[in-house]
Amino acid sequence: MMKPNVYDQPYTEWKKWMKEQGEPAFRADQLMDWLYCKRVTAFEQMSNLSRDLREQLADSFTLDALETITAQQSVDGTVKFLFQLHDGHAIETVVMRHQYGNSVCVTTQVGCRIGCTFCASTLGGLKRNLTAGEVVAQVVAAQRYLDEAGERISSVVVMGIGEPFENYEATIGFIRIINDSRGLGIGQRHITVSTSGIVPSIYRFADEGLQVVLAISLHAPNQELRKKLMPVSRRYPLEKLLEACAVYEEKTGRRLTYEYALIGGKNDQSEHAHELGQLLADSGSLVNLIPVNYVPERNYTRTPRNQIFRFQRILESYRVKVTIRREHGSDIDAACGQLRAKHLQIEQRSS
Ligand code: SF4
Repeated sequence: MMKPNVYDQPYTEWKKWMKEQGEPAFRADQLMDWLYCKRVTAFEQMSNLSRDLREQLADSFTLDALETITAQQSVDGTVKFLFQLHDGHAIETVVMRHQYGNSVCVTTQVGCRIGCTFCASTLGGLKRNLTAGEVVAQVVAAQRYLDEAGERISSVVVMGIGEPFENYEATIGFIRIINDSRGLGIGQRHITVSTSGIVPSIYRFADEGLQVVLAISLHAPNQELRKKLMPVSRRYPLEKLLEACAVYEEKTGRRLTYEYALIGGKNDQSEHAHELGQLLADSGSLVNLIPVNYVPERNYTRTPRNQIFRFQRILESYRVKVTIRREHGSDIDAACGQLRAKHLQIEQRSS
């Protein structure tokens, strides 16, 4: 049977495990320090743990660093990693440089079954869920990369390949582990989880007592269009989604962010902006406009800059707060899933 990954275990589980080995509880703190502060890659390096304990750890757990298949570096400092998991699957993790700090975008599933038409991640379907530890390992790997420049990760976005609410338990486990101050200590308000709109999970998430940012991938101002762009809307219609969003905001006292990918000629016209403005007028919510990256398989085009600004102005006329996402890595395979899709094509051709 496959040994569990060390990054799957939260601090409370380490304390229990240490007790079972007859070790004092503070060994769990020492272990957390080795894993998340010193970021070692082998149990032998944990020099303040006894040889017996290190062997016991190695017999019970794996401490495999993610293997880098390739890393693409953009002129703007963005780095996109293609990592290999223990079973050979490839996933993407992106480190982005902002004026306010460094953020890392993590993957929660190998592929995705949601089927958003503008997304390269969904093209090969869903292969499997990641464990919480496999998501944590991406943040640790990103931090190891930044260690070389003496920099730190200041925020985490769960917006890479996969729908985090289709892998709910692992996503919650991941948030709690990276938030732990004995671990990476990423503040909850610096963690953003993005969902395509899995309505039952939004209700569930509202009861988790978390302070993270929840982002909803909206991408259309009406059900007809949303159904075409995001098949998930057939299961969870826009009206039901917005009801869940209202309950979430009420229960948590936290405003949602709506993500809106602008796709040339599809959802980026003035009439769409007016419809979206009416839908969210005076809600206090934030709309994040995302100029969509070109996805060759779908033949989607980009919205011209002046049209993006017009869209923004119309939304603001309805007192909706708007940001335009700064492009990262436009000179590399920037769209979510693009690098992995390319890797899969090469593998298929050579097999
Ligand atoms: S946008 Fe997200 S939810 Fe939609 S197909 Fe891509 S990875 Fe899945």
